[in-house]
Amino acid sequence: MTEYDFIVVGAGSAGAAVAYRLSADPRHKVLLLEAGVADSPYTRIPVLYAKMIANPAVNWLYSSEPEANTNGRRIPVPRGKLLGGSSAINGLAFVRGQAQDFDTWAQLGNTGWSYEDVLPFFKRMEDYRGDGDDRYRGHGGPIRVTNPPPAGPLLQAVIEAAAQVGIRHNPDYNGAQQDGIAMSQATIFRGWRMSTARCYLDAAAKRPNLHIVTGAHTEALLLDGKRCIGVRYSTGGAMREVRCAREVVVSAGSINSPQLLELSGIGQPERLKALGLPVNHALPGVGENLRDHYAPRTRWIVGAKGMTYNDTARGLGLVSQAMRWAMFKDGLLSMVGAPMRAFVFSREGLAAPDLLLGWVPMFTEATPKGPKISRQAGFTCYAHPMRPESRGSVHVTAADAKSPPAISFNFLSAAVDAELTVRAIRIARSIMTAPAMAPLRLTEQAPGPERQTDEAIIDWVKATAETTYHPVGTCKMGNDPMAVVDARLRVHGIAGLRVADASIMPTLTSGNTNAPSIMIGEKVADMILAG
Ligand SMILES: Cc1cc2nc3c(=O)[nH]c(=O)nc-3n(C[C@H](O)[C@H](O)[C@H](O)COP(=O)(O)OP(=O)(O)OC[C@H]3O[C@@H](n4cnc5c(N)ncnc54)[C@H](O)[C@@H]3O)c2cc1C
Repeated sequence: MTEYDFIVVGAGSAGAAVAYRLSADPRHKVLLLEAGVADSPYTRIPVLYAKMIANPAVNWLYSSEPEANTNGRRIPVPRGKLLGGSSAINGLAFVRGQAQDFDTWAQLGNTGWSYEDVLPFFKRMEDYRGDGDDRYRGHGGPIRVTNPPPAGPLLQAVIEAAAQVGIRHNPDYNGAQQDGIAMSQATIFRGWRMSTARCYLDAAAKRPNLHIVTGAHTEALLLDGKRCIGVRYSTGGAMREVRCAREVVVSAGSINSPQLLELSGIGQPERLKALGLPVNHALPGVGENLRDHYAPRTRWIVGAKGMTYNDTARGLGLVSQAMRWAMFKDGLLSMVGAPMRAFVFSREGLAAPDLLLGWVPMFTEATPKGPKISRQAGFTCYAHPMRPESRGSVHVTAADAKSPPAISFNFLSAAVDAELTVRAIRIARSIMTAPAMAPLRLTEQAPGPERQTDEAIIDWVKATAETTYHPVGTCKMGNDPMAVVDARLRVHGIAGLRVADASIMPTLTSGNTNAPSIMIGEKVADMILAG
């Protein structure tokens, strides 16, 4: 029996937007299936991302395969597993990317994805509460985006130091031009996290034509020949099958979307056969083209007292921070993961910046339950190329849907990525040692003053870098043989099936990936409704 018009798999950044827009018309019966839980006490207060980064209750907790350029380390790949998906556990920075990112997608043959084409969706999705140019910024949309409180003395010094090395202050990097340094805009409103669960699903859940099921792990797509007719999902130990009249939209994210296609017999035939999976449709690009930001964190000990949260937010300081949040909704508890960022040029003559630097105004220590504020006062500056060329893959390793897929990044396999990473670290050093930083009395802890040659810096990167949690590209959009979806996000060769999430990005956007993922959800809904 056909119960629904549309089934959306995954209620994350993109999937929540898809379900919200499709169910806006009461004639459409929509089912939204989410493998994770409905909510968690840690999703509301921004800084509690620290309690979710290693928390299996809300996080898939994947990790990569050991690789040569990670010195054999497995790199953590956290992914949200609850309503809101990764938007409910992420670092809350709101970054669209730059016009050139989307123009590149269009130049690759993806009609309808130029910056001019996607800008209306970026505007429609946001309710921007800051000064901005209305040609670029939207008001009244579901996602509330705010400017942070003004920089304190520590980050103000960074802005001045950046100016001393030729980097301009550009508060609205989501406006006309991206380049420059700024406090991070955030998916925070009045001190609360604005996930897609809060901003899209709270409102949509009241609609009688939208059915949201949590704890529903979709294990396979149901195919009738070359048409997708529904899904099979496990819930509470039982297996259910559900059918739809029009389309299934897979929005399970860059790790789980290719996994679900492969489990359904859509992918590289030899790989599927080797695992005993059926080959329903050969599509060699499924799981390929994985890209992410491999981001070394430079570390700086702060000699001046009272400048970092290491001095001001431990012990009784934490109590006063909690009171600040309760009264004013600011301070540590409302902190974006990296409250300041700079989009910079690696060399003269580029049309757009190609490096990202991000500052975290304290030292933390890793513990099995997540990061903890260190005793040592310091701050970190991560630095990396924004559009890496290295590509990896995500593939199933077993026919069992509960087995984690193998994630291989191949970081630094493209020589240009190593070259630009070194350049980014040298720019970070030039800012941190500029005259404006002198009052902070900084000492470089990592990479450390002894590491000056390119080789020494890259050795340190291989030993220490992690990602900034932006995997994309594993069901890439395009027309070439390795493309998985077309420019309307329809899976090549299968009717009634689209993929809409970060996995469809042919290239990585210049910055964080939550905003572009939501935009993808907004846009696919329009394409579906246009017929
Ligand atoms: C720790 C962390 C910090 C980050 N910080 C930032 C930041 O500061 N700013 C920023 O812009 N971006 C950040 N990102 C990245 C950004 O949040 C993601 O790129 C974005 O949320 C991806 O959206 P998506 O729709 O592709 O996938 P997701 O939002 O991950 O959604 C996928 C959803 O599908 C569900 N799902 C998966 N498989 C199945 C299945 N088989 N059946 C049913 N449901 C399934 C998942 O549980 C999840 O809810 C961060 C990410 C993480 C993890």
